[in-house]
Amino acid sequence: RAPIAAEDQLLVQHTNVVQSPPDEMCSICMWSLQEPSGFSDEDEAVGVASRMAGFGSDGVVRLVLCDHLFHLACVRQMVKNSPQYLECPNCKTLHGEKHGNQPNGHMNVTTVSHSLPGYPNCGTIQITYNISSGIQGPDHPRPGRPYHAIGFPRMAYLPNNQKGKTVLKMLKEAWRRRLVFTIGTSVTTGIQDAVTWNEIHHKTEWTNFNGHGYPDPSYLDNTLKELARHGVTETTLV
Ligand code: NAD
Ligand code: ZN
Ligand code: ZN
Repeated sequence: RAPIAAEDQLLVQHTNVVQSPPDEMCSICMWSLQEPSGFSDEDEAVGVASRMAGFGSDGVVRLVLCDHLFHLACVRQMVKNSPQYLECPNCKTLHGEKHGNQPNGHMNVTTVSHSLPGYPNCGTIQITYNISSGIQGPDHPRPGRPYHAIGFPRMAYLPNNQKGKTVLKMLKEAWRRRLVFTIGTSVTTGIQDAVTWNEIHHKTEWTNFNGHGYPDPSYLDNTLKELARHGVTETTLV
């Protein structure tokens, strides 16, 4: 017997079967929930989850955290390439733990006694990210091609106060979940297959020489929001 596919485990964990679906639209296939999904087919769409739950590819499921409804086959198609988490297409609520495709590397943390502009007398947390160039894997945009780690080691700074320590804790978790960097085209340099920042902003400068430094009173709160958008919040830490 075939093992349960990762995407089916995810669906069993984060969805419930809806017995009598309302006449509403599935926002993935834009078709009524009372009609079969556009993704229905014999071999693929009817997964282990659907058989376990006792329905076919025209089944409808409810996401457990946000209550939004979709065709099972549509959700299943959506999570196929990211079977650790399910992000609701309607409201972005994350079910499960989102992991990225950040290449292997190291994150090191030290403290320095110097204080950042806008945060006097607390000293500074200095993060060093080190990633080397390599070959892209199956979860990268162009598997088998090289990727280029440009501008490493990269240094980033946080005030060594309560909120700075909280952001550091979240960044460590984001690093563990491989969310801090990704591979793509660098907006700044235009270089393809480059290791780039992944929507979690870092202060790589001490002062605002290129706009990536201090002072910036809203930076720590903004970063906490960016982390939360990736599903990294205080309540998700163990
Ligand atoms: P990118 O240009 O694709 O942009 C992705 C995000 O990173 C954007 O939100 C952008 O605003 C932000 N960003 C761009 N430059 C940044 C910088 N210097 N510091 C902090 N955030 C920055 O991202 P990328 O290709 O990863 O980085 C852009 C360039 O910055 C690269 O050429 C890299 O070499 C250079 N860089 C150097 C260092 C260093 O310490 N030497 C540190 C960070 C970035
Ligand atoms: Zn659908
Ligand atoms: Zn939702």
